[in-house]
Amino acid sequence: MICINCKNEHSEKFCPNCGQKSEVQKITFRSILNDAFSTVTNMDKGLLFNVKSLLLNPEEIVNDYILGKRKHIFNPISFLIITISIYLIVDSLIVVPGQKQEIDSQIYSVGYEAGKFIKNNFKYFWILSIIWLSFSTRIIFRQYNYAEHLAVNSFVIGQATLAGLIGFVLFRQPLLFNPIIYIFITWMIYKIHKAQGKKLDVFFQSVAATLLFFIQLLLITVFIGIIGNYNW
Ligand SMILES: [Zn+2]
Repeated sequence: MICINCKNEHSEKFCPNCGQKSEVQKITFRSILNDAFSTVTNMDKGLLFNVKSLLLNPEEIVNDYILGKRKHIFNPISFLIITISIYLIVDSLIVVPGQKQEIDSQIYSVGYEAGKFIKNNFKYFWILSIIWLSFSTRIIFRQYNYAEHLAVNSFVIGQATLAGLIGFVLFRQPLLFNPIIYIFITWMIYKIHKAQGKKLDVFFQSVAATLLFFIQLLLITVFIGIIGNYNW
């Protein structure tokens, strides 16, 4: 038969050239729903696989991903985008009277313009934060290259954002100042890099990486504030 994906002729169950399944199921309403549902709920791959693995064994999923065993792992950037979307949806749903205003004023106290800008563009601000976190982790943990740090930190920020939901409900803190986020980031950096040195050293390096990350976020916030307040 001829592979519908790459036109390679073969007689295997999967195309030896590109891996396309030989027998393709017809798309039905049911198969679309099943596919969508299993991407989210399948514990052996997909979104929940990532959440489970990142919680129980982050060093393993990160190693697998970097070494190329990626099939069952949900792409880190997609993971980051989806977790942030989940966070923002929950954030917009939970409106306790008075709370929203309190959070707004906390954000605005950073500097009105900076606060407003970050609030309106939060999704991008937080997605781009992997760039700054990767500067920090790359400086401290030299084992991976910068691009690998970007992938690893997409897992880290994505997972920390989900954990941040708990902090959001408990402390009513905006994500940027949510202590749970930074505790979680430190813990994950530690777990992922702990094979690279003595435990105590790696622990302090992880704290340093998170601090460096937070300082960069503050500097960017101040920078946005200055630009926003400047009369052009
Ligand atoms: Zn093929």
